Parts: sequence; C-alpha cells; structure tokens
Amino acid sequence: MPKYAQVIIDFATIAEIDHVFTYIIEEQHSDKVQIGQRVKVPFGKYNALQTGYVIGISENRGPENYPLKAIFSIVDPVPLLSAVQLDIAHFIVAYYGTSYAAALEAVTPPGLGDKPFVEEPDFEEYIMLTEDLESVQQYIYQNKNKKTFSKQRFILEYLLDHPKVCQKELEAAAEFSRSSLKTLLQHHFIIREKLEKNFVPDRIRYEAFKPLNDEQEKAKTRICEAVSSSCYRTLLLQGVTGSGKTEVFLYAIKEVLESGGSAIILVPEIALTKQTLERFKERFGNRAALIHSRMTPKERQNLYLRAKSGKVSIVIGPRSAVFMPLGNLKLIVIDEEHEATYKSESMPKYHAADIAKMRMQKEGGVVLLASATPSIETYYQSEIGNYDKVMLKRRIGDAELPEVITVDMRLELREGNHQVISQRLYEGIKKTLDFGQQVMLLINRRGHSTFINCRSCGHVIKCEHCDVAMTYHLSAKSLECHYCGKKLAVPDKCPACESKYIRFFGSGTEKIEEFLKQHFEAYGIARMDLDTTGGKEGHHKILDAFANREVNLLIGTQMIAKGHDFKDVALVGIIAADMSLFMQDFRSSERTFQLITQAMGRAGRSGAKGQVIIQTYNPDHIVLQRIKYNKQELFYKEELSNRQLMGYPPFEHIFTVLVTGKNEQQVIKAAYTLAQYYRHYSQKGQTAFRVIGPSAAVLGKLVDEYRWRIIILSSDREKLLIYGKYCLRRYKDEQKAESIKVQWDIDPLSMM
Ligand code: ADP
Ligand code: ZN
Ligand code: ZN
Repeated sequence: MPKYAQVIIDFATIAEIDHVFTYIIEEQHSDKVQIGQRVKVPFGKYNALQTGYVIGISENRGPENYPLKAIFSIVDPVPLLSAVQLDIAHFIVAYYGTSYAAALEAVTPPGLGDKPFVEEPDFEEYIMLTEDLESVQQYIYQNKNKKTFSKQRFILEYLLDHPKVCQKELEAAAEFSRSSLKTLLQHHFIIREKLEKNFVPDRIRYEAFKPLNDEQEKAKTRICEAVSSSCYRTLLLQGVTGSGKTEVFLYAIKEVLESGGSAIILVPEIALTKQTLERFKERFGNRAALIHSRMTPKERQNLYLRAKSGKVSIVIGPRSAVFMPLGNLKLIVIDEEHEATYKSESMPKYHAADIAKMRMQKEGGVVLLASATPSIETYYQSEIGNYDKVMLKRRIGDAELPEVITVDMRLELREGNHQVISQRLYEGIKKTLDFGQQVMLLINRRGHSTFINCRSCGHVIKCEHCDVAMTYHLSAKSLECHYCGKKLAVPDKCPACESKYIRFFGSGTEKIEEFLKQHFEAYGIARMDLDTTGGKEGHHKILDAFANREVNLLIGTQMIAKGHDFKDVALVGIIAADMSLFMQDFRSSERTFQLITQAMGRAGRSGAKGQVIIQTYNPDHIVLQRIKYNKQELFYKEELSNRQLMGYPPFEHIFTVLVTGKNEQQVIKAAYTLAQYYRHYSQKGQTAFRVIGPSAAVLGKLVDEYRWRIIILSSDREKLLIYGKYCLRRYKDEQKAESIKVQWDIDPLSMM
C-alpha cells in the first residue's frame, strides 16, 4: 500500500525551494491521494500550509533522513494534471532547466488559484419541439395565412430542421421574436430545457470541404499517411502564400477525427482572424473550440474540461494551447511556424514546437509545421532529413506570384522627392485604386514621426526611463515611449538648448496615412496598428471594412502582412524595407525576408497578376535581391552557410544571460564579474564554450533598469545548459550581488 507522496511545492519560481519533497500519506487519505492532484502540506519551520502537486506515490520513503511531515488535506477531488501533462512538465524541467513549479504552472489551467478542480460544465437553455409533431404541423397549417404568424412559423420550421437548438443561436436569427417564442412555449409546442453546453458533438460537414487540386491532394495524402501510421513524425508543409496550405491540413484534421483522434492547431495570435476560425467552424462545428487570451479563467477551465472528456476534439489557440489535455492526440499543426510568438518570453521560456514534438513522440502522432517562409532552423532540419518536407509550389487557380519592383529611395531624394512615398509607388496606388482594386501598405512602425531632433544642438528626445527615442503620435498629439508606454507633451523648445528649431523625423503609420489622405481619402483609407485595434473587435472592424470595400487602401504594421486573404488586393507597398535589415541581430535578414515575403503574399491572390513595390535605400542588399528574383531556396542556402560560418543557430545553440539593475555602474561590474565566471569554467571543462561580451544590450535601458548581456554558444545543447546554469549558481552563491537581477534563456529568439 502506498504511503509516501512526492510533492512539488507551488512556490512560483523560487529556485531554492525547487525540490521534490516527500510527505506521508496518512490512513484517512490513503485511498484518495492520486498523482496529478494538488494537496495542502505543512511547510517550513512554522508549518505554514502550502499548495503542492503530487508527482509520485511510493511505498518507500526515499533516501532523506529528515523527519517527514504528513499531507494535511486534498485540494482536487480528481487529478488536475493528466499523465501527459506531468510528462510535459518533466520535459520542460529537463530541456529548459526551469523549476518544477514554473513547469507545472505552465501546464495548469490559468486562474484556478486554490480552488478545487471540479467539473462544472456550462449549462445553457436549449429549445426543442414537443414530441407531438402532428399537432405542430396542424398548428402551422391552421395559421399559415395569418400575417402575424410568420415569426412563430419561422421558429417552428427552424426547429423542424434542427432538433435541439440553443436559445442563443435561435435569437441570433434575423426573424427571431421573443414574444413568439413565449407564445409557443405557453402552448407547449416547444419545450425549453437546461442542458450542458455543446453536449452533442456536431457532425463533420463534408459538404464544406473544397475539392483539392493535384498538388494539394498529394500533400494531403502524405500527411494522412503519416498520421494513420500512429508513429511520431514532424512534417514541414512549405507552400507559397495562397497555395492552399490551410485547406490541406483541414483535410488531415478531418481524417484524424474520423479515426477517433483529436488535434491541436496553433496559430500566432495576431493571425487569429475571424476568417481562420470560420473555416474551422464551417467544417467541424462545435467539435472545434478556440482558446484565446480574452477568455475568462472560468471559460478556459471549462474548455480544458471539455478537451479532457472528449467533448471537443480540435483546439485552436496560441502557443499555450499545446498543453491542452486532449485524449488520443494524433496531430499538432503549427501554422506560420516561423513566428516568434511561439516562444514564451517568461518562465518557463519554452518553444511550442519543442513541446509539440515531445508530445507527439510520446503519444504517437504527427507535428505539422506550415509556412510559406519556414524558419532557418526548421528549413535546416528538413534538409538534413529530420523532418519530411511537403511542398506546394503553385498558387490556387494558378494565380501568379506578384511582380516585384524595388525603388531606390536615394535616387528619389536626388530627384527632389522628399516625401515618404516614391513617385513610382504613388502612381501605382493611384492606378490600382482607379482600376477598382485594393492596396495594402506595410510600414513596420506605428505613430507619426519616429524621433524628434534639435537642429541646433542635435539633441534627440528620449524616454526618461528607457534608452529609446520617443515617437510622436499625431492622433494623441503627444510623444510616446514604445517600450514602457510613458507619454509626454510635445515640447516647443529643445529641452537641452532651448532652441526653437526642433524637427520631426522618421515615418510611422500615421505619417503615411496623413500623406495619403490628402490624395486618396475618397477611396476609403484605414490604418491598422496597435493604436487602432484596441477594442475587442478592433481588428475585425478594420478587416471587415476592407473586405466589404468601404476601405480600399489599408496602411498598417506587420499585422497586415499575416494570413489575410483578400481577393481584390492588386498592389502591396513596402514603405521602408531597410528598417529591419540592419537590426543588431543575426536573424535580421531572415526576419526581413519573412516579413516582406508574407506581405507580398497578400497581392494578386486571384485573377490578375499582382504587384509589389519595395522602397529601399539598399536595393542591392542580398535579401532584397533574392526576394525580387524569387530565389527562395538560394536565400535559405546562403543564409544557412552564413550561419555556419559565424557559428550561429542552427549550428550552435545560444545561452544568453541578461544582467539588469537600477545602478548602471553596478550592472556593468556585475556583468563583467559574471562573464569572468563563464570564461573561467569554460577553460576548465572539456567542451569549448564561446563566451561573447559582456556588452550593453540593444535596449540598454528599459523602465529605469540598465541592461547588459552575455552570450554563450556551443553545439552541445545539453552541456551548454548545465554549464550556463552552473556558472550562474556559483556567481550567485559567491557574489551576493543583491541589487542585481540575472535572467537567462536557452535558444532565445530575441536578444533585445
Ligand atoms: P495558404 O494557407 O497557403 O495561404 P489557403 O488555404 O488560405 O492558403 O488558401 C488560399 C485561398 O484559396 C483560400 O481562399 C481558400 O479558400 C482557397 N482554396 C484553397 N484550396 C482550394 C481549392 N482546392 N479549391 C478552391 N479554392 C481553394
Ligand atoms: Zn537643442
Ligand atoms: Zn520608456
């Protein structure tokens, strides 16, 4: 009989207490304690009650010698965490070196607090017809010519088609009337009953699936073969924009469902358009559910339960949806897999693709990575045969890829055009709009002017809390720091020399909008960026207006580049292609390539050939050349060999350490001391580690904290993680630098 429980105390992330503790299971609890439950246990000198997770049960007490305490009470009547979720937590601890508490928190439904985890399904009002259908038919027949009857008739006929309908659905119909419903209830022609929401899984709607073209059919067959083998495989579905990737994996999901399996679809949050969700609902009805950040904790917990009990077989959501406890999971799709949002930036700093692979290895299923512009890492894995590559080379209906034109902005200047829009782009916009087609313009910066500069003394107005220039916002008539949100009135004199000659430089979405409104207002203009998409429906309102042609010229940040499918867009303009090319990040070429290619993908998706105009000061830059001449493969090959030459991922792994604090001198000193630890231990071991830095981070100061960085590289990931953490521990134990914070990450995607 089990007598001991291994427990992880739920102390957010305090490393010192990151330890497995053994507790006695006393007689009264002995048949109730289960793995995956939370329990209350006495902890510490004063036996304060803490919540803990039971991760193991044993008959032996283990090697420790200290006197054991007993479990005080049980929190969850049923296990909160499934075996799979505990496996994931173990994996996170081992693979990312985080604490158990952080790993367990990641796989637990959010907002649960100390409340017991019990099934509390949502109930809803459902409406159905009486069993006496004959009397219903008769009632319709008798009243059919009465004018006032039409609304009642609508309800009855609706119910004849749909045996059980939730009241909300009925209310949403145009012809619905509350008083008619009441009348029918009074006459007992219909019945109202509270039932569990989504209690009957919808059927698959086969009629909604489009017949695939040859290329899609082949891709689908390969994916389905992999899925039906029930063996782990990762597939890369690389298809040009508009080649019908989504349609292909919708088919694969259908096959999964038909064989009684379930699937998770990860989407980058921004691309989570209504369009995407509708495509799922159309085919899978309520068997597909969406999880997103605007849901209440209660709603998320309910979804979690429905996934666990098999009422939902498809969950669509951002990276954390990879933890959903679906049973018989056969497929995890990661759409737009190159997106950085799949990597968590807070502890545990996991990447959803790692978790997906680990899950499918354990559960026997397929990971499908879909993208028109896969990450360099993913591309490499498929090159060396770790992933199978499935390609879609043609656009649907053989729509052509757009023609690409680069405009040299240096020449524009020389020719006397000081506007942000080149002559060529201006004419392109005019022609396209006049032709009755639509235009999208991408500029990856919001606001009006991106910095403010004194012409007398050269002073640039920076945020007082961060080391970044303030952006001028026209609509708010103020300056704003895009990193901490600090706002400032626009000064009329230079704060440094009091000169009146302060000028606004650099362009953001607002400046482009201001300029274009003077010329094209009548065609309908909208701007889509963080400032215009605040409300719950912000995104949708703008996209709907663009879809129904109220708006024909859409200006926006990278959020317009992703996933949208508008048939009438004939021209895409990239206002400042250089902006992301020269960031101090080895991924800047890759990011620029992806962003521009994705934006291009919005042009000419049906019918006539689209056009893309790229404005740049560096038309000869290799990335722009490869894009212009459609040399994707070449871009990947060259970029890979650069990475190899420089010793960057995917050939080497990165462990990065960020040292922060309020006192700049202390931060620098600490960073140098810590770097010494890394150099010292690097020379001692057998594996060579490359230590770079310390140096001020790209974002040298953020919200009053100074930031310095050390980068360590090695091709041996496992050793790198151990060494990275070991040096940090030694440093912390020996230096006691209390005013200094140190954060670390392995395989980071951003190094700001
Ligand atoms: P991608 O994900 O590669 O960008 P989508 O799957 O979104 O492509 O497809 C692009 C457009 O083509 C969508 O409007 C989609 O409905 C349509 N489409 C996809 N496959 C087919 C097909 N076989 N027949 C007709 N239309 C299709
Ligand atoms: Zn000045
Ligand atoms: Zn700031």
